[in-house]
Amino acid sequence: MSTAVAEKKTTLRDGAFGHATALSCRECGHQTALGPFYACPECFGPLEIAYDFPQVTREEIEAGPRNIWRYKALLPVPSDIESSPNTEPGFTRLLPAANLARELGLTRLWVKDDSTNPTNSFKDRVVACALSAARELGATVFACPSTGNLANAVAAAGARAGMKTVVFIPSNLEQPKQVNSAVFTEQLVAVDGTYDDVNKLAQEIAAEEDGWAFVNVNVRPYYAEGSKTLGYEIAEQLGWRLPDQVVIPVASGSQLTKVDKAFRELITLGLVEDKPYKVYGAQAAGCSPVSTAFKTDAPAIRPVKPDTIAKSLAIGNPADGIYVLDVCHRTGGAVEDVTDDEVRAAIVLLARTEGIFTETAGGTTVGVLKKLVETRQLDPELETVVINTGHGLKTLDAVAGSVGPAATIAPTYDAFVATGLA
Ligand SMILES: *Cc1c(COP(=O)(O)O)cnc(C)c1O
Ligand SMILES: [Zn+2]
Repeated sequence: MSTAVAEKKTTLRDGAFGHATALSCRECGHQTALGPFYACPECFGPLEIAYDFPQVTREEIEAGPRNIWRYKALLPVPSDIESSPNTEPGFTRLLPAANLARELGLTRLWVKDDSTNPTNSFKDRVVACALSAARELGATVFACPSTGNLANAVAAAGARAGMKTVVFIPSNLEQPKQVNSAVFTEQLVAVDGTYDDVNKLAQEIAAEEDGWAFVNVNVRPYYAEGSKTLGYEIAEQLGWRLPDQVVIPVASGSQLTKVDKAFRELITLGLVEDKPYKVYGAQAAGCSPVSTAFKTDAPAIRPVKPDTIAKSLAIGNPADGIYVLDVCHRTGGAVEDVTDDEVRAAIVLLARTEGIFTETAGGTTVGVLKKLVETRQLDPELETVVINTGHGLKTLDAVAGSVGPAATIAPTYDAFVATGLA
């Protein structure tokens, strides 16, 4: 969105970004005017949204719609956001998980189940915020590089918005995720390369072409804020209080840092009581640059080439990895990783204890929760929330080989009795 959209910056309508006031550099604090920018002009650090929040009450939020727009006063979106077509994600269930808790030896456990969002992953939240920014900035094309779920969410939201939508994915992506994008848009581009290659290509297109809003590239600051709604919802659904511990999957690391940001904002705004909480990050061993850095106390993230069934988390060079380390250190949490076999086992465990079918990202998160308990990095007596970010139907192949019929029988009573299942 180099020139055309940047020029429109001067014609931004009043309140286009709600109570957001500027883009602020995470590294040096330099402030930039709101616009299609994502890197600090002074130091190239990542830009974040700065706000001047109004006084918001619990009652005002509770009176809002049963989707992320109930928190619109805390997001970079206009006050009339509900009037533009979007997928209306959020306000997903926070389920008590007593069976899984018993299995893992925990006292109080909740699953925040984001698999029930409109395109069955948490990505609908971030995309809804990015779509608003794309509109307000006058973008003509809605686009993304994606590990799969983001492409699904962008393609669906773009269709509802009636915008030209182009999504880029690695060509080795799970077939269900390809179909889940292609059904919404004719402009699905499969790239022979890793996600990191696809991301680089998107940056190049964003720099060359006018009017393209790449949700997680040049409108990333707006996009990323959508993840805060996970944190707001967890607190609201617990009766306006924070959990003691929360376990979150890490791909780029954005979601984890934004859930922490949401908790801190709620404290600052007086919407929840100030209390300590610990944030834990979950990665797959086949793509664990952040977990490795945490365990070795490295000062920086060393990029890796991903090799894991948890494709939605397979970002080898995570943009917010370093900030994940900050959050986990500051709150007293940790970052852990599990093998693909542990991911598969955890998918089946969650399904059989709680009736929730998660994708490989959720298998990673539940697997890490189990490992954190076993290694005593997480306190089993404290209240814990684990986030399920996507639906198992998108990664059927991951467990197709480990579950199946107990028996295949003739349609007779005797044959059934012979199975021993009677
Ligand atoms: C994208 C994604 C994540 C993590 O996202 P980041 O904010 O990039 O860390 C987690 N789970 C699922 C299912 C995803 O699609
Ligand atoms: Zn800077």
